[in-house]
Amino acid sequence: MKIKRILFLLVLSLNFNSCSNQPRGKGLSISEGSVSKGSLENGRRFPYRGSNFKYFSFLSYTFFNRAWVHSKVLDISLEAYEEMEHTYPEKNFLLMESSQEKGGRMWPHRTHQNGTSIDFGVPLVKKGKARHLHNYFGIYHYLMAFDEDGQTGLAKNISIDFEAMAQHILTLEKAARKRGMFIKKVILKIDLKDDFYKTPSGKIVKRKGIYFAKALPKTIDDLHDDHYHIDFGFL
Ligand SMILES: [Zn+2]
Repeated sequence: MKIKRILFLLVLSLNFNSCSNQPRGKGLSISEGSVSKGSLENGRRFPYRGSNFKYFSFLSYTFFNRAWVHSKVLDISLEAYEEMEHTYPEKNFLLMESSQEKGGRMWPHRTHQNGTSIDFGVPLVKKGKARHLHNYFGIYHYLMAFDEDGQTGLAKNISIDFEAMAQHILTLEKAARKRGMFIKKVILKIDLKDDFYKTPSGKIVKRKGIYFAKALPKTIDDLHDDHYHIDFGFL
């Protein structure tokens, strides 16, 4: 009986909430409270895919409805993807969870409550070439694991493209500043930060003083090897 009810709700939600390649939502967005205790009013839902990015999971997008952000955060992210298309025409970026339509608590995330947090899948590279195998993992992407050098045991020679990641962060910061916002906090697994800061663009991220979490509880730290979490703030 219970299973039937869940299936019914699933089908219902998929009908009401199917994937769209256009943003959804209107009105003045308001992010209330903080990322760890807050809500979202008149948010925007990300398109399911764009020319060089896609949302990581059909279930997360439709059934759990977790691709909502403040309208400015949507514009910032879309402009950054557009710019990355010129820098990295061969790359496809992976967008992961942001907030629910009205924000609020969203298991298992401790933040993501007011439409200013986004998880971005780490870009991958193999011998200098972009790799996209992780784009097909769906919700299991959160379970991917990388060692301290950013290598994954899943496939040989595939590693995190720290330079592309740093450029993405710089591009997001530029687009944010244009709109009276900034990158307030980045969360990346602590072990991976030295490799990140070694890249040319990683050095610029450091010089600009974009804040990265300095210490994390182990469970949180372990989760942030397959994605980088960003909180945007209002200036
Ligand atoms: Zn996150």
